[in-house]
Amino acid sequence: MILLRIPTRFYCSSLKLTKGLSPLKKSLLSKKRKEDVHPSTPVRTRFAPSPTGFLHLGSLRTALYNYLLARNTNGQFLLRLEDTDQKRLVPGAEENIYEVLKWCKIDWDETPVKQSERKLIYDKYVKILLSSGMAYRCFCSKERLNDLRRSAMGLKPPSMASYDRCCAHLTKDEIESKLVQDTPFTVRLKSPEQYPTFADVLHGEINLQPQVNYNDRRYDDLILVKSDKLPTYHLANVVDDHLMGITHVIRGEEWLPSTPKHIALYNAFGWDYPKFIHIPLLTTVGDKKLSKRKGDMSISSLKNEGVLPEALINFCALFGWSPPRNLASKKHECFSMDYLEKLFNLNGLTKGNAKVDDKKLWFFNKHFLQERFTDPVKLKELVDGIMPSLESKYNASTLNREKVSKILLNCGSCLTRINDFCDEFCYFFEKPRYNDNDGVTKFLSKNETHHVVELLEKFGQFKEGANAQDVESMIDTMCREHGFSKNVIYQTIRFALAGCHSGAKLAVMIDILSVKESNQRLAEGLEFLQSRKR
Ligand code: GLU
Repeated sequence: MILLRIPTRFYCSSLKLTKGLSPLKKSLLSKKRKEDVHPSTPVRTRFAPSPTGFLHLGSLRTALYNYLLARNTNGQFLLRLEDTDQKRLVPGAEENIYEVLKWCKIDWDETPVKQSERKLIYDKYVKILLSSGMAYRCFCSKERLNDLRRSAMGLKPPSMASYDRCCAHLTKDEIESKLVQDTPFTVRLKSPEQYPTFADVLHGEINLQPQVNYNDRRYDDLILVKSDKLPTYHLANVVDDHLMGITHVIRGEEWLPSTPKHIALYNAFGWDYPKFIHIPLLTTVGDKKLSKRKGDMSISSLKNEGVLPEALINFCALFGWSPPRNLASKKHECFSMDYLEKLFNLNGLTKGNAKVDDKKLWFFNKHFLQERFTDPVKLKELVDGIMPSLESKYNASTLNREKVSKILLNCGSCLTRINDFCDEFCYFFEKPRYNDNDGVTKFLSKNETHHVVELLEKFGQFKEGANAQDVESMIDTMCREHGFSKNVIYQTIRFALAGCHSGAKLAVMIDILSVKESNQRLAEGLEFLQSRKR
């Protein structure tokens, strides 16, 4: 089914749902979709963000797909800042783009292109269009243009193109005299009678035409240069994609309505245009638009929440692209960047809305966090990252890097994000605050308490050098000889050592805490349990 979310009142589209099609046509369409659309030669792609806000999931996905396509084909991936709309620039947004891409290891080739530094280039190309008659200066006032817009909307049917092309008919002398008087003007493209149809790699043939009323003909004459003499997004985008030799443009579906205009502009210059791939929108699991609070979060805020770049890349890669099914199930959909570079293929792109499901992000995060523990360099980086916050919280005498690494290596399997380290493992750095909030000691009935405590006191203390086997056989003996369930004994000791925290194995806890500290805690914990009885 070809479904494009473009308001139909704006465009007459040749795309219709497959619903009313004959079986033959349907099968032709589905055959068409199975064509191999993956490039067989190196491509040049680009990521062209406008620094009008901080990068979020949608833009990161666009950057990633362009990057992966370039790497997969041994091509180049370029970066371009579309910053011509100076009024909408957000301070820090440009730095955020570089920072996030570097953090995610989406490396770009060549020096980034900044459109705000290229005004002279755009001027040169506008002159070419003006002299060939493909573009013209429009001196109409704002008021007149507003009136035209209103009247176009009032037509039956309304025309979505509003300009009456009055300035396209000015004589040379009229233009000269307006220029001499310094009358402000914009430059418009003389749009073609019909926009060309084009083949989107993902959606197939697309024919988008603005709705016009032929009794009062208006034109969709795209503004190329604004009255402040700066190029519009459309002009700069097309000129730069041409000059940068871009062969494939992967961008969000929201840009689809602009594409016929861009192709008209390429045609006006006599240039070939790149292949376009419009990727589906991101939505919530319930198919709603992403809200600010959820998937629309900036990448920086996800990073602050403890999301790892590997997890984020894996998460974004699957928003509209499916790896081969056998590999996906074999690897639980966990793919590293290196692997994605090899695997990414335009044939795997999907058309439906891409659903953002936080649960999946945390699943990947846990996977990649555990993977980092197994690499000494990455483990050290993790330790470096959490030391400052541990140092600000706990006494230096209980804290050292080796201890933190050991905790991660031995007990880290319960962590989904490194940010939970402090909460999860606080008992390794400070004595547990024993309490019975929420009935955390209910594993031990009040009747049992006395016996168990007595038993543990009688048994005495952990011996220096006690290893996992010693601890286990000690508990085994106690249970066998005194008829307690293993579980009760384990939980009692665990409670004494760590308060209400669970997780680490007893022998590991004793090893990390030291036998001396463990014995002290055992005594204190037993005292608490007994006092609870009274
Ligand atoms: N500057 C546009 C954006 O912010 C780029 C659109 C395109 O990729 O052509 O998304």
